[in-house]
Amino acid sequence: MSQVEWVREHAYIGGSWVHPRGDILEVEDPATEKVMGSVRSATAADAAMAVDAARTVSAAWGATTPAYRMGALRDLSAALRDRSDLLVDTLVGEVGTPVALARSSHVGQALTVLDSYAELLETFAFEERLENTRVLREPAGVVAAITPWNYPLYQLLAKVAPALAAGCTVVAKPAELTPLSAFIVADAAEAIGLPPGVFNLVPGPGVEVGELLATHPGVDVVSFTGSTQVGRRVAAMAADTVKRVCLELGGKSASIVLPGADMEQAVSATVANVMVNSGQTCAAWARLLVPQSQIDQALAAAEAVANRHFVGDPRHEGTDLGPVISAGQRRTVLNYIEQAVADGANLVCGGIERPDGLSVGHYVRPTVLSGVSPQSRIAQEEVFGPVLVVLTYTGVDEAVDLANGTSYGLAGAVWGADDEQAFAAAARLRTGRVDVNDAAWNPAAPFGGYKQSGNGRELGRWGIEEFLETKAVQLPGIGSGAR
Ligand code: NAP
Repeated sequence: MSQVEWVREHAYIGGSWVHPRGDILEVEDPATEKVMGSVRSATAADAAMAVDAARTVSAAWGATTPAYRMGALRDLSAALRDRSDLLVDTLVGEVGTPVALARSSHVGQALTVLDSYAELLETFAFEERLENTRVLREPAGVVAAITPWNYPLYQLLAKVAPALAAGCTVVAKPAELTPLSAFIVADAAEAIGLPPGVFNLVPGPGVEVGELLATHPGVDVVSFTGSTQVGRRVAAMAADTVKRVCLELGGKSASIVLPGADMEQAVSATVANVMVNSGQTCAAWARLLVPQSQIDQALAAAEAVANRHFVGDPRHEGTDLGPVISAGQRRTVLNYIEQAVADGANLVCGGIERPDGLSVGHYVRPTVLSGVSPQSRIAQEEVFGPVLVVLTYTGVDEAVDLANGTSYGLAGAVWGADDEQAFAAAARLRTGRVDVNDAAWNPAAPFGGYKQSGNGRELGRWGIEEFLETKAVQLPGIGSGAR
């Protein structure tokens, strides 16, 4: 692998590679703790230039036909597939994600989402008739896509694909820790001849580039994925220009095992879910809720499954858990574990010691904790690491209350003796997505949060609607005449 792709001196603005005026940002490989590449940061002025470039072509791109945009998305997908090995290598390096997961999830699912928008354009209704009114769904304009580091390619494409499909132009700002995969998207956009200005890439710090995008009057929609804390700030900053802000934020999701469910299957799936990407998944089932009478069985199963997860070099095919993203994130995760144990939690497995044989890299042991109060920090706050908290309940009402008892509402799972029993509990959860009895991922189904997990919906037709305005054109003819 040539490391040239990992040293990027230019931002992609208006179809050109422009030399930005910010500092060099080094990108660390969290497995080796060595610098693997770098980008030159954009400044606020560079980001403003990107907004201007996106604005300039906004009307022309918005006027293209859905069939034309479908062709562009298909070309982009093919160009990214041509680069899939490079994408996998880059994501393993910048995120520290195991190579098998990088292939299947970071790249595979991201391209599935991209393809799903090309397909949706075959049938999506940009106009509907309502008696004497033609209701037009028009592109909202310029979209700022601000993305996090945990699934950098997926998060970017989950915004870029529906935005382009809607007829919007995009200015993308990737996370500082993981900017490199976004450059491969810019390379692909250039290679397919996407019209200049339709997709722009400005790496740089959130406090400079992100804030410019959130406040700029030339941005019509900010699509933000990240922490609740920063999302709140982005929404406040965007309020002055009354732009639309779509927030995809954090979570502390619950997996409820109902009486009569297959405990081994439920625990196994829940542990696997929370450990994926070293626990750095917004929708992770970070709380396991089991009947009080079955706690011993649940803990034994959770310990056995967690200990089967192999922690190590993300470049090895058999690795289940790579490192977490940074030294700072590792410290945060270890602090949560330490505090929980100091407060009396039972450490079922894992803990703060380094995994055996791993003296370098930001590794954390798969950790299971029990015996904590549902109100404790470890049971309420998003840890964003490979940490599962097991809680108990005595009746289904209590299980539902516990599941709903955090400030978040992003995802969750319910395991029941049958699908009907599980569905009845799922319907009572204040959360944007619930999996019943090991359901399969559906890329056409909406994804987003209740409460402080956000207000947006990505994927499927809900994703495209985030980037559309609605216009009613009233025609002479039938109608009440009232205004
Ligand atoms: P973060 O710190 O909130 O950062 C997210 C993005 O916002 C980054 O690009 C960041 O840039 C930028 N940013 C930071 N400060 C900003 C500011 N003042 N104005 C504008 N932009 C700013 O989140 P993260 O640590 O990267 O990601 C982890 C979080 O994302 C977790 O809470 C996770 O649950 C959430 N997440 C949610 C979803 C979902 O779909 N709901 C999906 C994935 C992740 P810098 O990198 O330069 O700081």
